[in-house]
Amino acid sequence: MAQASSRPGQRLFLDTSIAYLKGVGPVRAEAFRRLNVITAGDLLYHIPHRYEDASTVAPIASLEPGMQGTVIGRVISKGIIPTRRGLRIFQAVLRDDTGMIEVSWPGQPFLDRTISKGDTLLVTGAVRFFHGRQLQPREFINLGDDESGTGEGRVLSVYPATDGLSFKIIRSIIEQHLDALLPLVSEYLPDEILSTAAVPSIRDALRMVHRPTSLAEAMRGRERLAFEELFFVSLLHLRAKSLAREERRGIHFANQRQLTTKLKDVLPFQLTNAQTRATREIFADMCSEHRMHRLLQGDVGSGKTIVALFAALLALENGYQAAIMVPTELLAEQHLRTMTALLAPTGVEPVLLTGSLAARERKEVAQRIAGDEPVLVVGTHALVQEATLFARLGFVAVDEQHRFGVEQRKALAAKGEAPDVLLMTATPIPRSLALTMYGDLDVSVLDERPPGRQPVLTAMRHESARDRVLAFVNRQIGQGRQAYIVYPVIEESEKTDLKAATTMYEMLSSGPFAERRVALLHGRIDAEERDAIMRQFRDRELDVLVATTVIEVGIDVPNATVMLIEHPERFGLSQLHQLRGRVGRGADESFCILLGDVSPEAADRLRIFCATDDGFEIARADLRLRGMGDLFGERQSGVPTFRVADPLRDEALLERARLAAEHLLARDPDLGASEQAGLRRVLGERYRRSLELFRVG
Ligand code: ADP
Ligand code: MG
Repeated sequence: MAQASSRPGQRLFLDTSIAYLKGVGPVRAEAFRRLNVITAGDLLYHIPHRYEDASTVAPIASLEPGMQGTVIGRVISKGIIPTRRGLRIFQAVLRDDTGMIEVSWPGQPFLDRTISKGDTLLVTGAVRFFHGRQLQPREFINLGDDESGTGEGRVLSVYPATDGLSFKIIRSIIEQHLDALLPLVSEYLPDEILSTAAVPSIRDALRMVHRPTSLAEAMRGRERLAFEELFFVSLLHLRAKSLAREERRGIHFANQRQLTTKLKDVLPFQLTNAQTRATREIFADMCSEHRMHRLLQGDVGSGKTIVALFAALLALENGYQAAIMVPTELLAEQHLRTMTALLAPTGVEPVLLTGSLAARERKEVAQRIAGDEPVLVVGTHALVQEATLFARLGFVAVDEQHRFGVEQRKALAAKGEAPDVLLMTATPIPRSLALTMYGDLDVSVLDERPPGRQPVLTAMRHESARDRVLAFVNRQIGQGRQAYIVYPVIEESEKTDLKAATTMYEMLSSGPFAERRVALLHGRIDAEERDAIMRQFRDRELDVLVATTVIEVGIDVPNATVMLIEHPERFGLSQLHQLRGRVGRGADESFCILLGDVSPEAADRLRIFCATDDGFEIARADLRLRGMGDLFGERQSGVPTFRVADPLRDEALLERARLAAEHLLARDPDLGASEQAGLRRVLGERYRRSLELFRVG
């Protein structure tokens, strides 16, 4: 049977070039290559990205000009109509129980040979008015003269296509070879995994996706293929992580329960469950002989600092030094202040190291960290400068880690002999996704917020409400509060008509806020002056800060209660969330106002932001709407791309795949067992990376 489908005399294999398949040939093979289909096996894995079925089918009578519709009907008449310009149009009239409609295929007279009177067609396309209602097919499938064809259960597979290779051609080629190809595939997932994951075998799954008897069946087939993809990626990821960990010898701290216990006793609040869990995960790493390499992820205000502080104290009570690096001087000062207050009862006095310390102070700090005493240093990138020498650095934390380059993060870690490393970030990524994204890092998540925080009231306002909004801001200032007003760009440009921070600063400070103390803050102002302005704002010497997104980094001014954002459509949802996190930090009710007229699509997006305060939910929406690249500013290399799976939509499936991978690796860490031969082969074929991680190929 396998032979019937390729050229005479040639046997069909999965690695047979697609060009040798009947119905393909060199020209189509070239088009297939663009779709990454090179072999007969690839063809089998070229699966529909969409289906049409009876559930999406509309009664013919309900079609109105202007709408898109899918109908199923019987051909009651047909024919070729020549036009005056020489174009020949194939037309058919379809009828279902509710009515009739004319369907027209310009320039496709050849359809007259394949579509017969009495055939049942599934057609999808736009309805227009042309001497009556007319359907212009985008796609169609001939269901033949099968009477049952008009009912449920008929599914049209729609394939990713390319120039010179329509989805219909692809479907007919696949249809033609499917029966010959399927028997060539043998299962490569272990039985046990198939049954725990409750997904069909590969042969069944491929049949289901290509030739489903129902949409539900197509989805079951798709689920198996998505599962295997997520399972493979999880295998690679977990294996890479455990190999990396084995190689990372680190300091073997002991949980002395001295400083850390003391801090817990004097803490003015109770740790959240998430903080307790993250601290426990971090302690387990630090007390193992492996070096910690962990990312602490938590929404703005989730309380990451205190977790880092516990880790630092563990190092200190073991006689080591600890360093916490932050992106700005102001943030360093802020951390120093809160840490000094928290640590006072424990007798630990953190020290500050920034570029603007006076030479004498700097020398003092340098002496302390070059000495043998345990010390906690909070600082900026001054920490990684050459002159800074630590005697016994055992723990480093990098706050707002995405603000630093890889080199800076590495340089800090290189200041000690294999210190444990904790990276912190407020860019919340769904947990499952974080695990596949951050390469060899372990991840802890603070998915809970300290109790008693009031949500920030968030609203969208039209341009027409500008005066009222500004008056509202003014009243807040009158009550002693402070406000941020944020713009997407620093300066106006001829290319766009965006309001810019610089011009609006002029406008606002001479107009509506003439009586107020207003300052301008953006990225082109040098760092020292920027910090000085932020300090003034913190110390309430300013009422309004007109700014770009430079203020998004973890600054804490509890008296600020208004975040007014202009051109909100120019920001990602996660970015808006970071900005909103700058207010609502004190006891007073706070407000986030999105001002401006935006497109209906943008308004839909912004409504998601207004409706929730949950950074993870927002990040998920952001990912769904704008893709991963946008969330991270650029496409991160090494982020696995999936053909079938969608790590967001398939989050639950990813969790299952990850568990299955963990299970398998726990039993067979290098997949060396003979029953994994099939799995090793497929891994080797599909993922280059597997060559270095497993003994494959
Ligand atoms: P972020 O994760 O954004 O860096 P911070 O560490 O700055 O958050 O904490 C935000 C605020 O919440 C700080 O004022 C901190 O003291 C407070 N905080 C942290 N943990 C708790 C807790 N468990 N209960 C109450 N307040 C907390
Ligand atoms: Mg922080």
